[in-house]
Amino acid sequence: MNIRSVSLPDGRYFISYQFSGPNWAALSGDNPNPLHSPQIGDTGSELRWNPLLGEWVINAAHRQNRTFLPPPGSCPFCPGSGARRGDVPVETYDLAVLENRFPSLQPSPAKPFISGDPFFETGPAQGVCEVVLYTPDHQTSLAQTSVEQIYKLVLVWTSRYHELCKLPFVKYVFIFENKGEAIGVTLHHPHGQIYAYSFRPPRIERELEQCRIHHQETGSCLLCSVLRHEVNDGRRLVTANTSFTAIIPFYARWPYEVHLISNRHMQSLDDFTPDEQRDLASILKAVLVAYDRIFSLSFPYMMVIHQKPSDGEAYDFYHFHIEFYPPMRAANRLKYLAGSETGAGIFINDAQPEAKAAELRSLVQPVVWREGAA
Ligand SMILES: [Zn+2]
Ligand SMILES: [Zn+2]
Ligand SMILES: [Zn+2]
Repeated sequence: MNIRSVSLPDGRYFISYQFSGPNWAALSGDNPNPLHSPQIGDTGSELRWNPLLGEWVINAAHRQNRTFLPPPGSCPFCPGSGARRGDVPVETYDLAVLENRFPSLQPSPAKPFISGDPFFETGPAQGVCEVVLYTPDHQTSLAQTSVEQIYKLVLVWTSRYHELCKLPFVKYVFIFENKGEAIGVTLHHPHGQIYAYSFRPPRIERELEQCRIHHQETGSCLLCSVLRHEVNDGRRLVTANTSFTAIIPFYARWPYEVHLISNRHMQSLDDFTPDEQRDLASILKAVLVAYDRIFSLSFPYMMVIHQKPSDGEAYDFYHFHIEFYPPMRAANRLKYLAGSETGAGIFINDAQPEAKAAELRSLVQPVVWREGAA
């Protein structure tokens, strides 16, 4: 994996990854340090503390003006788009990472707005917002790309996770993808995102706390236990390979909510062996293809990677996993986060995880892919 970084005219970095040669999975080249990249200017973002929930809200009003579903031919993520004020200054790339043009967090943010009332707490919106371009092909999707391309994405995720964790202000590196207009995607080019937060997000905090308590009480990892019970039961299994198991968990909130759990007890992308990286690519491909088969359409979803924070604390009790939240509950029917979900935090799942897992299981074709990779 050869890494080359370039500065865009507005100072953001663009990192291009090229994979070729006999050792193409090995890392070489330079990774830019976001702290040293010039800033885009005052974006006006700030953190505002919600004292009722005990959590931060990112206020980023400038993002109202961001690019919204550009017509074909003017996609800022297509190769060579830099010549017409796009984001890609190179004629081609294999995968690429760039700083978000409309970031809600910045490495060196402006001072927060002072309300004048110290009762209301604010904080600098410090962090990094990156976009991950999965492929130069505008027309495809992660589900449709080759398992080799998904493997390259796993390598790029690992590289960015590793680099962003090194930044002193970064406490949590959050890798995710919003896919489909149903999720509010504003650009169709296949891409995901990375947010490096300067605090631990509340959803992660809650999982960490539950895992910590379970470990204290039983001496074992909560997710290892969930995995063991799901495998023994079998009704909610979707597919599995040597290194990963895909389930719709017993406690799923969404009809097609798949969780990919590593079979080995590990905490982050940094812990993977090369075989596990390839197995992750294989199971991602198998699940994504099955998703597209449910309603014979390009299935919308949110995909989030849950791994340990990067704040220097020990998280041996936590366990790497990926969660998918697809908003569709039937063909042409979306699940909305309505009063109970939004106002009370209680999800109502209109489907039985056992039935949905059986449905997905019948659509999965296992992807076996190991040789010829490195
Ligand atoms: Zn494009
Ligand atoms: Zn575990
Ligand atoms: Zn989780």
